[in-house]
Amino acid sequence: MSKEITSREQDYSQWYNDLVIKGSLADYSAVRGCMVIKPYGFALWENMRDALDKMFKDTGHVNAYFPLFIPKSFLSKEAAHVEGFAKECAVVTHYRLMNDPNGGGIVVDPEAKLEEELIVRPTSETIIWNTYKDWIQSYRDLPILVNQWANVVRWEMRTRLFLRTAEFLWQEGHTAHATPEEAIAETRQMLEVYATFAEEFMALPVIRGVKTESERFAGAVDTYCIEALMQDGKALQAGTSHFLGQNFAKAFDVKFLSKENQLEYVWATSWGVSTRLIGALVMAHSDDDGLVLPPKIAPLQVVIVPIYKGDEQKAQIGAKADEIMKGLKALGIRVKYDDNDNARPGWKFAEHELKGVPVRLALGARDLANNLVEVARRDTKAKESISLDGVVEHIEKLLVDIQQSMYNKAAAYREEHITKVDSWEEFEKVLDEKGGFVSAHWDGTAETEDAIKEKTKATIRCIPLNNTQEDGKCILTGKPSKERVLFARAY
Ligand code: AMP
Repeated sequence: MSKEITSREQDYSQWYNDLVIKGSLADYSAVRGCMVIKPYGFALWENMRDALDKMFKDTGHVNAYFPLFIPKSFLSKEAAHVEGFAKECAVVTHYRLMNDPNGGGIVVDPEAKLEEELIVRPTSETIIWNTYKDWIQSYRDLPILVNQWANVVRWEMRTRLFLRTAEFLWQEGHTAHATPEEAIAETRQMLEVYATFAEEFMALPVIRGVKTESERFAGAVDTYCIEALMQDGKALQAGTSHFLGQNFAKAFDVKFLSKENQLEYVWATSWGVSTRLIGALVMAHSDDDGLVLPPKIAPLQVVIVPIYKGDEQKAQIGAKADEIMKGLKALGIRVKYDDNDNARPGWKFAEHELKGVPVRLALGARDLANNLVEVARRDTKAKESISLDGVVEHIEKLLVDIQQSMYNKAAAYREEHITKVDSWEEFEKVLDEKGGFVSAHWDGTAETEDAIKEKTKATIRCIPLNNTQEDGKCILTGKPSKERVLFARAY
């Protein structure tokens, strides 16, 4: 069979690539590090985007759009920011091509050199804060709660479909506030929005935490994150929300007149999630037969496959399928009737399994005569024959049940894979033999964090929010520590 998938056991990376490509989510492209998101993958992204967009709007945010290009001088204004992004910038230097007078084909016209080079945005703080300077004069102009849906470019050296690409789709929220308290509350609120989205829509349990200084966003005072666990025991940073302090306001001289009639710098946040979330979805839930998608965001929630011989049976089954479809659509359920004559039912079953459609109905002539239909759920592969009376209500409940059991399964796996350790030997052993998050004491220094990364490739994923304070000793240096942090090997 052409759609054969490498098993997770055999080669986890290859399994992932097989699912993305054979599951029709995306393809490699002619451009290094950039991918083509195919219609099925894009439909998944649209569902994620729509759910997130609604959550942003429900929390008072509005959408806007800023230029793709950032003047180089803007990027340089915030010192930590430029240092963080300089190594992965795509730079536009010219604006015209010409025919090579020496017959070398099409070449860059040396006369058409830009006076100031432009950076293809890796993130938009700088162009946005340059704009906010014009939008903000007094406390009455605050807060600004803007989000942008866009593409960005980071010239990543090691790329992987969805998880790390040179160009990716994302949203970036950029907010401006009168007080640090308000900005911090916004940062935490958006982290909670991401966590809720991951848990409720993606069926993906996440740990909410704060990054250490070395893992912080370039230009941030604090980076909050959600961290998820993949089935191979590696962690994935699934979303970030940054408290930017007054760093960008100072860099772009954005001041406001406060209620007390004082000129003060504005406080900022930014927050983003990207198409990486699709990679997270694939790696967290899928199996060796293909994708397993949570009903809430699956492009297609139910597929009906007819099994018939001859036109008469086909017409009878078609009429019943129509009726079921009407009922499902009335409840807002996304359903397709797969009556393609060119493929056999067995092939269709495999195809819909590969694509991760949560529920499959098989409707045959004999079933119909007995007023029955076979219902198969993708997550557990369980099949049952149920009465055609009440099939719509049954499916509605089943979709809710699948969403919940996918979450429960991922949560149970995650719980089994948070291991407390108190010695270096144990630390290495757990990382090598079990994987997952390792909860351990750390002395709080960047040197120790680096040394641990060097020795084990594990990084501090986060300091969990609502961590309990507890005296202990750093697993590497033995120096005193007040709380545990979560380490893991990560994507
Ligand atoms: P950051 O601006 O670095 O905080 O990243 C914002 C969001 O984009 C985070 O949720 C990251 O997981 C995601 N992200 C960062 N780099 C990439 C990349 N190369 N490809 C896909 N997603 C990314």
